[in-house]
Amino acid sequence: MGLLAGCAALPGSQNTAPQAWPSPTPRAPDADLLQRLATDLTAAVRDHDADRFVALFAPQGRAAGSVIGRNALHLAAWQAEADADHLRVRTQAGAQTGWGSATLALAVDPEGRILWLGSRPGDHPVVWLDHLIDVSHDDPIWLIAAASQASMAPVWLRTARDASERLTTLDWSVWRPPSEVAAPLTLELPADLVGFGEPIDVGAYVRLRGTDDEPRIVVSPADRPGLTQEERLHLLTHEAVHALTRSPEWAAPGWAVEGLAEQVTEQLFPDLAAAHAALLPRASEGVGLPSDADLAAGGLPVYALAARAIAGAQDRWGSAQVQRWLADWQAPGRPSEAEFTDALRAALPQ
Ligand SMILES: [Zn+2]
Repeated sequence: MGLLAGCAALPGSQNTAPQAWPSPTPRAPDADLLQRLATDLTAAVRDHDADRFVALFAPQGRAAGSVIGRNALHLAAWQAEADADHLRVRTQAGAQTGWGSATLALAVDPEGRILWLGSRPGDHPVVWLDHLIDVSHDDPIWLIAAASQASMAPVWLRTARDASERLTTLDWSVWRPPSEVAAPLTLELPADLVGFGEPIDVGAYVRLRGTDDEPRIVVSPADRPGLTQEERLHLLTHEAVHALTRSPEWAAPGWAVEGLAEQVTEQLFPDLAAAHAALLPRASEGVGLPSDADLAAGGLPVYALAARAIAGAQDRWGSAQVQRWLADWQAPGRPSEAEFTDALRAALPQ
């Protein structure tokens, strides 16, 4: 099945410093120039003036500058400010309530025009630096899609809204209300931008860059061909649970992370719960909590087993208590792995 809550170390954007600098020799801008460029770039975006934005780049940098400028105008807000010897850019997409931010390096020519603007090596990739994007939203859910995938955006937005509305019907006392983290999506971006250096059998996961960042669901339809609408809805519901509970920050083991996301999805979709029930093994000494390797291999039976482990824990200790342990795995009184295993076996077909 390949669902994963991850916060993998992300490689830098493709738009990192070139090995060979274009002529003339670039230099880092001084503080005054950096401040002026930040002000002028921000003003050009505010005035929706793509030509003025690109004119701040040297001729050698204009192709890249036009992509950045075009994308900046697609975002709801794009504001640059000088930050030491870097440019700090804050962005908002559509109905996004929080801000994204990126710290960029730049080089200028002798006339103070931008030769190159890009992310620093080792930083998180910046989607709008070097790929044409489309931004659409269905308040409060927003989606950044590669331009080539824009036609699917309305389908994913409607599905995300549907998943979000279903999740608001549940009790989320330990976590913030789901409407605040309702499935911002990134659709079909290159593997290096979604956080994996090469293609991998992961169709969807939640990216959480830092505690100030909104979680974002990343979906790669290319890895999940032929999804039905029902499967799309299950997928986004599962991932929205990760986003809502900020599960990539948990210290809890993988079976608990995946188990909660899948068990909540089962709660909302009885047909899925019935399909999972048919896959469960009978209780025996040989059945235990899924390992991280089991989960990485994926497949419905593993996720069904993880979901049943959560259901068994809730049967034994109560839903609210299990939520508190998931949110704080070091909390006093949390059951041992053996006790969770015992609760799982009690919840399996006898
Ligand atoms: Zn998951």
